[in-house]
Formats: sequence, structure tokens, C-alpha cells
Amino acid sequence: MKLIVGNWKMNQTLSQVKAFFEATAHASYKQTAWIAPQALHISTSLSLAGAKIKIGAQNCSEHDSGAFTGENSPASLKDAGASFVLVGHSERRQIFGEQNKTLSLKAAKALSHKLAVIFCIGETLAERESNQTLAVVKKQLREGLEGISSWDEGLLIVAYEPVWAIGTGKVATPAQAQEVHAALRAELKEMYGESGAKVRLLYGGSVKPDNVVELMSQRDIDGALVGGASLKANDFLALCQ
Ligand code: PEP
Repeated sequence: MKLIVGNWKMNQTLSQVKAFFEATAHASYKQTAWIAPQALHISTSLSLAGAKIKIGAQNCSEHDSGAFTGENSPASLKDAGASFVLVGHSERRQIFGEQNKTLSLKAAKALSHKLAVIFCIGETLAERESNQTLAVVKKQLREGLEGISSWDEGLLIVAYEPVWAIGTGKVATPAQAQEVHAALRAELKEMYGESGAKVRLLYGGSVKPDNVVELMSQRDIDGALVGGASLKANDFLALCQ
């Protein structure tokens, strides 16, 4: 079963959230569906989403509590019913300046509260064009997971999202994505043995209903992290079907 995760970013009004789940809560589809709404919509989403769809957050603090105005602690996200959190999305890295060191603390803290972590990595266009893709993503993986030695089964997930493919309509070819996923699988195996090899690897970057089947048919692609196409119920259902 593939895992399809919708990242709504800072989108969806309350009425759009309601309309989305009215259309999806009772729909049938084959794959596993998770949604990350804005944090303030987590509770509403949980009450509307139905049992099949897990709800998560797009970011979390590396701290449990304290004087960190505007942040959400993993403990509070867990209390609110979140099942997972995205860590290190390229928008967090690029717009908010988050670095691997902080991201590793966020991931460790979220895992300690039994939130699944979707740890996001990916190269820029300039890095791809200068043949640095594999070196860049391996570095992000090693530094971003530093200090994490184990996790409850299934809780660590890695998303490969080439920055040049996010929100641009430019999708990695299935072969390009598979090449990186295979390298990440090998790297995780080297780092953690069999539990590393079992980490689910998601592809993200302009995944749409018309390209999802080919991408998901690649051997090392276990699912998708989806921005734009997760906002409309029909598109999201098409991805999950
Ligand atoms: C994302 O935000 O993680 C993403 C992949 O966005 P999009 O699907 O719109 O490219």
C-alpha cells in the first residue's frame, strides 16, 4: 500500500476544510491517506476526516514547552490528535532558514512523543545541474538524522522533494526519482541496518493524478508528499485511488 500525504501549507479556509472532508471522509480508495492542514485546523480536521485519514502538522518546535512565541510543541500536537509532523520541508529551510542541526532536534523530539516524522530533503536546481544531487541529499539525511538511533516501527519516513519540482509543475522523471530513492535506501541501510532499509520513502514535487501511477510504480518509491494536488478533494481522491 502506498502512503499519500497531503501538505496543505498555509491554505484552506475553515469552510474549505469542511468541504474537503465532506467529500473524502466516506470515499473509497486503495492507498493510505494522510493530511497536514494548518495547525489550527488539526482538531476540526480530526473530527471530520473519518477514521481512515490520519491528520498531522507541517512543522513543530524542538522544545517541549517554554517561551517560544508562535511555536507548536510536539507534545501539544500529539495532545491535539496529530499523528505525524513534516520536518525540514524546503519552505521551512529556505524561507525560515531552518538548518539540519535544528531539524535533527525537531525530528528527535517529535519521535520521542510518538509522532511519525516525515523528514524532507531535496536538492536545488543549481545543485542538480552541477551533479551534486546525491551528495546533497545524503548530507541532509546524515546531518538531519544525527542523534536519532532508533524509532518505533514506521514512525520515521523520509520524503525526497527536489526543490525545483515543488509547486513548479516540473516533476522529476520516474527514473530520476528512483535513482535518488535507491541511493537513500542504501544510505539508510548503511546508517541503521534493516530498520533503515524499511523506512518509507516518499517522492514529492508536482505529483498529480496524471503522473502518480508511473512514479509510484518505481521500486523504491513508497508514496507521495503532495502540495497543490492535495487541496482539491477530487484530485486527492484520484491520487489515493
Ligand atoms: C510540497 O509542498 O511538499 C509539494 C510537493 O508541493 P507540490 O505538490 O505542489 O509540488
